[in-house]
Amino acid sequence: MILYDFHLHTFFSTDSEEKPENMIEKALAAGLKGLCFTDHMDLYFPEECSKKSGGDFTFDVDEYYERISELKHRYLGRADIRIGMEIGLRDEPELKDKCIKEYEELTAKYPFDFIIGSTHCLENIDPYWEEYWYERTAEEGLDRYFDAIDKNVSDYDCFDSLGHLDYLVRYVSQEATLRSIKEKGLERLLLDEGRKGNGEDVYDPAVLKRLYGRKIYDPADFSDQIDSILKKIIDKGKALEINTAGLKYGLGFAHPKREILERYRELGGELITIGSDAHMEQHLAYDFNMAEELLRSLGYRYYFIYKERKPQGLKL
Ligand SMILES: [Zn+2]
Ligand SMILES: [Zn+2]
Repeated sequence: MILYDFHLHTFFSTDSEEKPENMIEKALAAGLKGLCFTDHMDLYFPEECSKKSGGDFTFDVDEYYERISELKHRYLGRADIRIGMEIGLRDEPELKDKCIKEYEELTAKYPFDFIIGSTHCLENIDPYWEEYWYERTAEEGLDRYFDAIDKNVSDYDCFDSLGHLDYLVRYVSQEATLRSIKEKGLERLLLDEGRKGNGEDVYDPAVLKRLYGRKIYDPADFSDQIDSILKKIIDKGKALEINTAGLKYGLGFAHPKREILERYRELGGELITIGSDAHMEQHLAYDFNMAEELLRSLGYRYYFIYKERKPQGLKL
């Protein structure tokens, strides 16, 4: 059994309202030994996107460290609590240097246990929003995204595990999906997903929204960039995260997809961290059994947790 959840958010993150205490109680109820808090620290989040999200995805590091440290002591002997952050890596030329410098200072300010490096924004937009996909096919949008991650893993050192590598497949817009379907000649997929209504095919928007991730996305389309990213993190001694939120989103796979985890191992990658990316207590350790089975089936024998930025292997 996987005994630690190493990716979760609380009310210190703009997009969560959960109390840290609730996460700990839920972890204990689920039979976990411990967890690592990894709230969002995304410097220079694009202003328009911050407005739409209701906040800027940063928090007061002093207050955070103090609050979680207090909980760590309160639960001593009952729950093994680690303190981390999920930092948002940026590749825009005008931001990169100052982001590297500020993230290095922030991550060194306290003896954090674990830092996730994720790419949430590029081209000064969070591609969660439709505007990013304007006039692009899904593949064009993802291609640009993997390029940004590839540059980020070259340039940033102040993280321990690469977060949710292909999670952007969740947010491909409907229009971008339709453009990809046309380009790839996959119109039959629309018939499969169609619902007859008034003599015409109509599509359930929620189904269409997931269609790219479920049936079209193929990591082989991006194998050059993915190989480059995986080789770099292996060389740098960084871990690759399995993020089970993809299962929660109904994609049928965790991030990154099986083929990428297989390739990582083939290239010599061993460091794997596991997180649910829960923003609410009920999503803690979500589908960890599936992640465990998947890792075992690929020949992995260990997953890793971190203490003061050093990996500790635990048997799967
Ligand atoms: Zn993230
Ligand atoms: Zn997260």
